[in-house]
Amino acid sequence: MPFYTIRQLIDQGHRIGAYCTIECGWHERMDLQKLGEKLGFDFEVSAYTLNHRLRCKKCGQMTVTIRFHQKVTPIKMFDTSGKIG
Ligand SMILES: [Zn+2]
Repeated sequence: MPFYTIRQLIDQGHRIGAYCTIECGWHERMDLQKLGEKLGFDFEVSAYTLNHRLRCKKCGQMTVTIRFHQKVTPIKMFDTSGKIG
């Protein structure tokens, strides 16, 4: 997916979860507002730009990765405007 800035993520209703990749199981929804205040709202968010800045709040390791929770945008398999029946 293309990079989004923090501002765009907020505007478009996206959410980001942070997940510890080792077995401690920590995860948390990231506060994009706070993140923007810290990094700037024009910061481009991706695993490459963000993972190394994140520390697990449970085990303290730098083993956190982010996942995007995109606002649900159904993929149209068919054009329903011409449906039969
Ligand atoms: Zn952890």
